[in-house]
Amino acid sequence: MSALATRTGAINLGQGFPDEDGPAEVLEAARQAIADGVNQYPPGMGMPVLREAIAAHQQRWYGIELDAASEVLVTAGATEALAATILAFVDTGDEVVTFEPYYDAYAAMIARAGGVHRTVPLRFPEWRPDPDELRAAVNDRTRVILVNSPHNPTGAVLDAETLALIVELAERHDAIIVTDEVYEHLTFGAAHTPIATLPGARERTISISSGGKTFATTGWKIGWLTAPAPLVTAVLAVKQYLTYVNGAPFQPAIATGLGLPDAVFMDAAATLSAKRDLLAAGLVTAGFTISLPHAGYFIVADAAPLGYSDGATLCRELPERAGVVGVPVSAFVHPERHAAYSSLVRFAFCKRRDVLEEASGRLAALSAG
Ligand SMILES: *Cc1c(COP(=O)(O)O)cnc(C)c1O
Repeated sequence: MSALATRTGAINLGQGFPDEDGPAEVLEAARQAIADGVNQYPPGMGMPVLREAIAAHQQRWYGIELDAASEVLVTAGATEALAATILAFVDTGDEVVTFEPYYDAYAAMIARAGGVHRTVPLRFPEWRPDPDELRAAVNDRTRVILVNSPHNPTGAVLDAETLALIVELAERHDAIIVTDEVYEHLTFGAAHTPIATLPGARERTISISSGGKTFATTGWKIGWLTAPAPLVTAVLAVKQYLTYVNGAPFQPAIATGLGLPDAVFMDAAATLSAKRDLLAAGLVTAGFTISLPHAGYFIVADAAPLGYSDGATLCRELPERAGVVGVPVSAFVHPERHAAYSSLVRFAFCKRRDVLEEASGRLAALSAG
């Protein structure tokens, strides 16, 4: 869809990357690090300044105490943290439970490890999982429950009961909880609750995040995971031969970002929330039914009221009809379950206001014609 946007000159609301820079201090810290000669391989677990900043961040925002030397691992984005974790813990035939729709990399990584992907549906527009369906998905073959909250593509935030049920099921079936929290600071209502803070969760949870979404530096690929030392060691054994290390000058820069005052994080979320409202209004005016997201970069819109039962068809026609690109939600579900999501399209709102205004104006043409 990004290639389609480039080819047609359409506004790309497909891929989730910001078109404005994040905090100036973070960018300047990277320039300074390059100037200071921080240009060679960092330590395998990441630079101490960043590992300490990650530990301090978990303490400051969530009250989670970590040993920066043994319980924090820096990775090539959240993506490598996820890949190395799945490769470390999932063997042929092991089951991995995720919600569905899911971040598209999950299915590919689980398949690559030889795992069996079981899913629990989230349904438009509330996206709240059915506890019985969650219970039914977890069993003694479940090796990993892979949680993503705040959630991409739906913008849902899992409620306290669901988080507690995940911990209960993981304990009962001796599964590991892997939690992808890359949108932790981009919430528009209640603050994020890491599942690792729940009673019983800590010792079996690998928490994953990244500087990419928080600081609008998605191209830097500085991510991390935090977990009890034995779990970190198991992931490190895989990570060692994936990338070994990455992004030396960006590591101290993300450490600078993590140490910025609370207001910087709050302002980023507030700015993004206003952008959400702008695009939401544009989509409603265009004739879509929407699910207003509680977090993240994306709005899911239903194209059925516009006469499209197939979001993939709409997405192929949209550059021509309206000069805008979106992604069908069917890209985030297994092929056999496309039908339940077929009329849904995901649009990114992590774009400049003028871009969102222009996109909204263009989308209005859909209801006119
Ligand atoms: C963007 C995203 C990632 C990837 O993060 P990187 O740090 O860029 O690797 C992982 N999970 C979700 C849910 C995302 O939206």
